[in-house]
Amino acid sequence: MIDERSAKFIATLLPEVRDAFIAFIVDAKELVAQNGLDYKVICGTRTFEEQAALYAKGRTAPGPKVTNAKPGSSMHNFGLAIDCGVFKGKVYMDGSTPADAKIADLMHKHASTLCTKHKLRWGGKFKKLYDAPHFEYDTPYSLAELCARREAKKSLIA
Ligand SMILES: [Zn+2]
Repeated sequence: MIDERSAKFIATLLPEVRDAFIAFIVDAKELVAQNGLDYKVICGTRTFEEQAALYAKGRTAPGPKVTNAKPGSSMHNFGLAIDCGVFKGKVYMDGSTPADAKIADLMHKHASTLCTKHKLRWGGKFKKLYDAPHFEYDTPYSLAELCARREAKKSLIA
């Protein structure tokens, strides 16, 4: 079983990919539990407006840059991506202290070993911005193709 928070975010995804992400989280939780920690989905689909606000961080808004993806250029905008968090009890670990951030990063790396099995891609392999909490469905379509296909009401996955 998965936790309520993860279930809530997975429910925002494209219906055709929900089962893959549920199966991934079940497996990832098992891996992370070996370290006495929990693994949860903390973000799913983001609207274009939400993506714009995120893109502004570190550019026109305060804080560090968190994404290189403009609205419509993130797999989150198509219901094909999740971000995950590592939890010690109820405490969200990513970045709260350097030591916790290091452990969280390691847990994301562990989870990334499950990608092939569940037909996902890991943000830790992105060339432009290392994004360890990010996992997206391995769709064969580019973002431009996804935009066109969504417009045409065609499937976004193969
Ligand atoms: Zn993400």
